[in-house]
Formats: sequence, structure tokens, C-alpha cells
Amino acid sequence: MRILLTNDDGIHAPGLKVLEGIARQFSDDIWVCAPDEEQSGMGHALTLARPVRLRKHDDRRFSVTGTPTDAVTMGMRKVMDAQPDVILSGVNRGANLADDITYSGTVSAAIEGALAGIRSIALSQVYAKEGMGADVPFSAAIEWGAKVLAPLLDTPLPQRTLVNVNFPPLPPAEVKGIRAVRQGFHDYSRGTVVEGRDPRGFKYYWFGLEAIEHTLDHGTDLEAIDEGYISVTPLQLDLTHHSSLGALADRFTS
Ligand code: MN
Repeated sequence: MRILLTNDDGIHAPGLKVLEGIARQFSDDIWVCAPDEEQSGMGHALTLARPVRLRKHDDRRFSVTGTPTDAVTMGMRKVMDAQPDVILSGVNRGANLADDITYSGTVSAAIEGALAGIRSIALSQVYAKEGMGADVPFSAAIEWGAKVLAPLLDTPLPQRTLVNVNFPPLPPAEVKGIRAVRQGFHDYSRGTVVEGRDPRGFKYYWFGLEAIEHTLDHGTDLEAIDEGYISVTPLQLDLTHHSSLGALADRFTS
């Protein structure tokens, strides 16, 4: 099994090392192509207005001066000698739950794989405390990663779908199990805009990601994580809201 790994936290991200450890339990044919620097929150951005540079770290380890989507594209088209069987994105430092998915470089890297018809899985480690920064513990992902991945690597997945996995912020022994759940939603859009002044006195703004209120609907990824389970959510790329399509079509019928 040929596996391509990426991580939107960058080529040096601790979560990428964690993912490599998980992937090696399934295959020795592992390739890495990730952004040079952190690209969290870049969503599915593709670099178009400037060139992308590829850096070789060793025979199967590369980084790009672009987005997570750029990294997957370069991995598939320029780095690997043949298409991967599987693309794994993560393990991200922080949650990719509910509406986070639309911002997520981690999930978007897996979307790029799904668009290419490759089995693609995004993995994220939720963390509990504000300001943990570089010290996010990945122990739940390390211990449970292979157990979650094993069925996902041989279950048939329809075209244009991918799987989003989140690990709860718990020591491995306290993780209650794995639940297949749907995507939840946050009650409000994203958080604060922090205002400050740079050393020369000019104003800057910085988007904050403080806790977002949400209703823990039954059967959602948010609820699973809150209750101490690993969430596994199949995602589709068709964003059409099918149940309102008919009513809208009627408005354009003369
Ligand atoms: Mn990230």
C-alpha cells in the first residue's frame, strides 16, 4: 500500500511524525509532502499567482512553499513515481469538527485526494486548554490511530467522499471508543478579532479561536468528542442543499 502523508501544520509538525508512526503500522511505502510552514486555516486554497518551490529532505520526504492543497498536488504529480493508494492528512494540532471543516487545511488536503479518486482520511487531535501551543499531547492519536485507520483502509468508500477523524483530548486509557457520527454545527460564526499595535505603532488584527458555543446535537462529531469518543465522519464534496433545490428551482420557472 502506497501512502502519501501531509500536514497543514508544516513539514516539521509533531503531528506529522505521529501520523508517520501510525502509517508505518500498515506499510513501508510511505511518502511525505507537506507545506514548508504552518498553513492552518487555509482551507482548500490553491496557489495560482506565484510559483511553488519543492524542497527535497530525503528520497521520500518533500516540502512545498504553498498550501496543503499544493502539497498534495505536488505529492501526487511530481514527488511520487505513481499514484498513492491512500492519502493521510494530519495529525492536525487541534480540532476539525463541525463548521471548522470549511476552514481546515487538514480536511482540504484530504478533499484534494478525494477529488483525484484516492482514498483520503483527515486526522486531528483535539486539545483541551487554551494556549497549549507546541505542547499539545497527541497520546490519544498515537495509541488509537491504527485501530481507527484499519477499518477505514479497507471499507469501500464512494467516489468523492473522504473521512474526517478527530481524537478527544484525553489520555488513551480514558478514550471510550470510536463512533461514526455526522458533522455537527457551531451556533455562531468564528470568534474574536484581537486588536493590537505593532512595534512601530501601526494597528494589526489577529483572529482568535476561543471556545465557540455549540449545541451538542445527538449523533454529531461535537457530541462524540464531548463524551470522550473518537469521531469518524464520512464527508461528501457535493455541498448542494438538496431539500431546498426544488423550491428554489420553482422561483426561476416562468
Ligand atoms: Mn493545522
